[in-house]
Amino acid sequence: MEVVIGLEIHVQLLTRTKLFCPCRADYFAAPPNTLTCPVCLGLPGALPVLNRRAVELALRVALALGAEIQTRSQFDRKNYFYPDLPKGYQITQRAVPLAHGGSLAFTVGGQERRVRIRELHLEEDAGKLIHTPQGTLIDFNRCGVPLVEIVTEPDFRSPQEAREFLRSLRTLLRHLRVSNADMEKGELRCDANISVSQDGEAGTKTEIKNLNSFKAVERALWAAAEYQRELLARGQRVEQVTFGWDEGREELVLQRTKEEAHDYRYFPEPDLVPLVITPEWLAEVRAGMPELPWERKARWMRDYGLNPAEAEALLVDPGRAEYFEAVVRGVSNPRAAAGWVLSELGQYWTSDEPPLPADELVAVIRAVEEGRITRPQAKACVEKAVTEKTPVSALLEAAGGVVRDEEALRQLAEEVVQENPQAVADYRAGRAQALGFLVGQAMRKAQGRADPKRLAQVLQSLLSGG
Ligand code: ADP
Ligand code: ZN
Ligand code: MG
Repeated sequence: MEVVIGLEIHVQLLTRTKLFCPCRADYFAAPPNTLTCPVCLGLPGALPVLNRRAVELALRVALALGAEIQTRSQFDRKNYFYPDLPKGYQITQRAVPLAHGGSLAFTVGGQERRVRIRELHLEEDAGKLIHTPQGTLIDFNRCGVPLVEIVTEPDFRSPQEAREFLRSLRTLLRHLRVSNADMEKGELRCDANISVSQDGEAGTKTEIKNLNSFKAVERALWAAAEYQRELLARGQRVEQVTFGWDEGREELVLQRTKEEAHDYRYFPEPDLVPLVITPEWLAEVRAGMPELPWERKARWMRDYGLNPAEAEALLVDPGRAEYFEAVVRGVSNPRAAAGWVLSELGQYWTSDEPPLPADELVAVIRAVEEGRITRPQAKACVEKAVTEKTPVSALLEAAGGVVRDEEALRQLAEEVVQENPQAVADYRAGRAQALGFLVGQAMRKAQGRADPKRLAQVLQSLLSGG
């Protein structure tokens, strides 16, 4: 039995205002119902005006995916009743979406895979229902917030592939600066469709709505595949149903069956003219495109010798990618710079802001490169600079004075050899790792202020009777 998956992804665009009105679009932290106007509340007589910026951001995504942009697309009304939809319809693009085709690559299990995009269109978001023990509250702030919906072909063959595709898409969206694409905030969410085919026969698909974490996407898809396999094993048919996902209980929740499917009575939105993308406009958007993440990755691998995993980890957020580039410019070994940004600094990187200014990290790495401090000292220095906000220059000065003097190193080595007869015997019996232990003991004695390479040499020559 083969699994077939297709995704419908909603992305919240980073515009200042909503899709059809001047209300602010960054509703996330705003008090409920403070970002509304007659247009997004659907009051009689109010008319929508299309946000030019939203179109440009959607075009960026379409261009990056290699999709074919429609010169003339159209907005439609999707009619349904729900309390979070005061107009009674959603404005979307159904008959003629903004773009068709294209694809996106991602890596799964070390292999590159590519999935085709079916179409991409603009639409407005609905409001939010907040369920409380006293009843349900409505917040209309999200009404009319611009979304781009990306629909894939049913090209995925496992839940992991769906998850890794979304990761790759998130990286792209962030680099294009079209969305923060934070799944926890609902800025990137997806509906997943899955079917299980038997003996090469396509199966009926079930849908899981509104998945908003990578883990939820993968787990819910596994659960749905399992559900279908069990039905088929019992000789039953799979019906076309829609599920929600209970993240806490890790359970599918039936939302509606095929009989309950809506008839949305789509028709062209009479209050908006068709959306015309002129060649000049498209050229302008194209000229403003940043370097794409896969281009950047290839460049880093070629010019800096990074491996794919390092490059991808640095690309997760464009702020970190820029930071890395700034650090690379200041040091002599780019690969080492990647290590510093990812491992030494990575643990402190908890917000959008870098935990340490790039020039300060450069100063630390250079001090190591030039042999002014040791690596352990440098790590301690980074930790202090980040957690205590002490300037790096002061820390470097205090840390200065690496013991590199032959006589001092020899004395250290002799002490350690005296104090650790067992390790010495081990080393002489051919266990090379005992040397590492002795170097570690000597470094401790020197409080990290010794050059570990020289120390190892001195110890080695001492142990071999030099
Ligand atoms: P519908 O008309 O029911 O909305 P679509 O053909 O528009 O279905 O596809 C909606 C989504 O379902 C797309 O993301 C598509 O890739 C996916 N999809 C289509 N057929 C299948 C299938 N057999 N199994 C899994 N996903 C599918
Ligand atoms: Zn409004
Ligand atoms: Mg559809």
